[in-house]
Amino acid sequence: MDRETALARIEDSRGAGCVPCALARSPRPLARSAHAVAVLARFPVRWGHVLVVLSEHHESLEATPLDAWLDAASLAHAAARALERVLAPSRSYIASLGTSEPDLPMTFPHVHLHVIPVEERGARPADVFTWKDGVLEASAAEWTALEEALLAAWP
Ligand SMILES: [Zn+2]
Repeated sequence: MDRETALARIEDSRGAGCVPCALARSPRPLARSAHAVAVLARFPVRWGHVLVVLSEHHESLEATPLDAWLDAASLAHAAARALERVLAPSRSYIASLGTSEPDLPMTFPHVHLHVIPVEERGARPADVFTWKDGVLEASAAEWTALEEALLAAWP
């Protein structure tokens, strides 16, 4: 899916309120902790891209209680371990790219973490944390297989 299509789909979903808040209410997350949930990214830049979303809506790290942040980081660590077990990536990137500017495209003013397994050995962060090459699409069966494998491997 190209970048423009993905952006349009995100814009469509914005009308329903805060997208990460909706993800945090996901009935079937990969995992849920006291302050966060882990879900498969709907617009993944790499296969296995996981989002860890704070359960409460906090728009900046300044506003995020430390215990909530550490809890989310712990969930990101668990997600990265599950991804290493299932996909054996050459490296794993974990990053929070949030912004408190509400109108930037591709971003949400709700603190979250990206956990991205990277297969290709030479990939740099700038190659991975971008939608310039679009996002991945997969069949329902592929999504289900990935979800089941991660659930089975979750530490
Ligand atoms: Zn929110």
